[in-house]
Amino acid sequence: MSWHVPEEDLHAYARGELAAPALWSADAHLTSCARCRGVLAEVSDPVVLDTGWERLDAELDAPRTGLLESLLVRLGVAGHTARLLAAAPVLRRSWLAAVVAVLLLSVGAAHTVRDGEFPTLFLALAPLLPLAGVALSYGPALDPTYEMAVVAPMHGFRLLMIRTAAVLGVALGLNGLATLALPDYGLRALAWLLPALALTAAGLALTPRLGPVLAPSLTAGAWVGLLVVADALRAGAEAPLAPFTAAGQGVAAVI
Ligand SMILES: [Zn+2]
Repeated sequence: MSWHVPEEDLHAYARGELAAPALWSADAHLTSCARCRGVLAEVSDPVVLDTGWERLDAELDAPRTGLLESLLVRLGVAGHTARLLAAAPVLRRSWLAAVVAVLLLSVGAAHTVRDGEFPTLFLALAPLLPLAGVALSYGPALDPTYEMAVVAPMHGFRLLMIRTAAVLGVALGLNGLATLALPDYGLRALAWLLPALALTAAGLALTPRLGPVLAPSLTAGAWVGLLVVADALRAGAEAPLAPFTAAGQGVAAVI
């Protein structure tokens, strides 16, 4: 290599004062010339370099605050609670997309196949979403903060309640929006709400006994079984399934 960046140019380069086009040739040359990089390191102010490295180091180590987490903090939620909430698997985009897809499909089905006075498929699926959300929020397999939660000076029950409140808030909100897309059915389209709360409560109550996978699975299975039995027992094709009648809603409210 015959040409090298003149030393006065390197001084200017180090101060950030070298102007184009000399800057471009210096940039291009420095990537391929160790000798000029050596000279540049010698003429650079070590204090400026060190503070630069420190800033970069701090930036790389700093925990990244997500959009949701900063929003929660701004709304007055304590920092550690906001982090636990934001780490909930249910609040991730993939989960939300899955919930929205299920709701869109069942709302679409309610619009195209109108069987009776009730949007049966929608009412059958909607209560399962908050239950699945709670199940996915807790447990070593699915929770990225599980190990942190186990060793944190915080009661596991409190964490479960925080997560459950977050899941219910999101899932019930999305279900509610989907209900608005079914105005033809009126208030009947809200018959998922009490079963949703009943299933979530039953799943939570069984979790200490059966574990975070079996408890919600059994609860969901029982709901599906109940719907199948109710479908076999109903008076006619137009009659509502038992859980969506006044009596069924009462049972759900009691649970
Ligand atoms: Zn050079």
